[in-house]
Amino acid sequence: MIKSNLFEVAQRQLDACAKIMKLDSNAYAILRTPMRELHVSLPVRMDDGTTRIFQGFRVQYNDARGPTKGGIRFHPDETIDTVRALAAWMTWKCALLDLPLGGAKGGVICDPKKMSQSELERLSRAYIQGIWQFIGPDKDIPAPDVYTNPQVMAWMMDEYSKITGKSQFGVITGKPFCIGGSAGRGDATARGGLYALREAAKACGIDLKKATVAVQGYGNAGYYAAELAKSLFGCKIIAVSDSKGGILDKKGLNPEAVGEHKAKTGSVVDYSKIEAISNEEILELEVDILIPAALENVITEKNAPNIKAKIVAELANGPIIPEADNILYKNGIHVIPDFLCNAGGVTVSYFEMVQNFYMYYWDEKEIHQRLDEKMTIAYQSVLGTSEKYKINMRQAAYIVAVQRVVEAMECRGWV
Ligand code: NAD
Repeated sequence: MIKSNLFEVAQRQLDACAKIMKLDSNAYAILRTPMRELHVSLPVRMDDGTTRIFQGFRVQYNDARGPTKGGIRFHPDETIDTVRALAAWMTWKCALLDLPLGGAKGGVICDPKKMSQSELERLSRAYIQGIWQFIGPDKDIPAPDVYTNPQVMAWMMDEYSKITGKSQFGVITGKPFCIGGSAGRGDATARGGLYALREAAKACGIDLKKATVAVQGYGNAGYYAAELAKSLFGCKIIAVSDSKGGILDKKGLNPEAVGEHKAKTGSVVDYSKIEAISNEEILELEVDILIPAALENVITEKNAPNIKAKIVAELANGPIIPEADNILYKNGIHVIPDFLCNAGGVTVSYFEMVQNFYMYYWDEKEIHQRLDEKMTIAYQSVLGTSEKYKINMRQAAYIVAVQRVVEAMECRGWV
């Protein structure tokens, strides 16, 4: 994996879009940098009695269309530029799905795998103590992302409620169901991506019942993608991987059994006596559908010519760098871009906010129907724009999203 500056990648994507759509120079200047960002130092008492200082960030990229929204990542390699890029992508994602929200992101530099539950709880609460004045149900609403989960969201909501002196379920989404979480949030990112994949398969003339699939990353997004690709559409999952390596079985894997093995042993590797493959090899397999669902910058100009999948469904954020995008487009590979493909999570998060405000909760069937509707409309608007301008799907998604943000900025008198 190469370490390029992810925010530069996000800016270059916007630059390309601005050229195609002849974006007004004032709107372009606003959209090229974050509106606001907060850097915090978080003292946390560790189990051994020492105090460690963790660095945390919250970036609010643009709120022209409404309060900002975006996940919080706990990762040892977190950087402010990664958070900026992800906040920009949240802005485009919310606009593309036509949600009344802007984009934000947060992160803390830490290694949650090396921390106890009580250290994680103290870090989660410290993060809210650091940023609480900056967030709120009508300002900025965080959610889970890499290495954060419903339990972390519960601690954060509780801390915010204690500081502000009232129950504030709407301050954060991705909460456990018993404290204002939404039905259908657990698999929402993957499910939304698969609704988009169903539409892409129709557009590319691929029969999903006969399709083979490889999934890189077997966490929340990757596991559910494998499980739902099989259970909803009858796809054959032939390879999956995680940070420790990958496995390949051309006869087809049982995603649930692999998930149970990972839960028990911490990894998909050594699942039964099947072929081991590396995280580089999994990307270049002869499959119909490739689902990168781990980290960013994994498909570059080096390996893009070797990608053989017909559809790449980007559940991870930023797995393909712009140079690689061009190569895949020239090779006729249909890419469902990240901020369309993984928008199911924020869409159900938005449904969670609506239900929290409403104090009335929908059942899972209703959530799935509403999610399907939102994803299908968004996919079709991107496909239509890509065909109209003869541009790739990512550029088309940018044009649809940026046009909506610019329209809101114009109405508000910002440009
Ligand atoms: P997660 O922490 O649940 O899982 C991450 C997975 O990636 C783990 O299986 C881990 O072992 C694997 N991984 C880590 N480093 C790897 C490497 N170098 N090679 C291969 N695998 C590696 O995280 P998640 O929530 O599933 O998020 C995965 C991606 O999806 C991220 O890019 C995230 O931003 C994006 N995403 C997630 C959501 C969501 O709701 N979970 C929403 C939108 C986008």
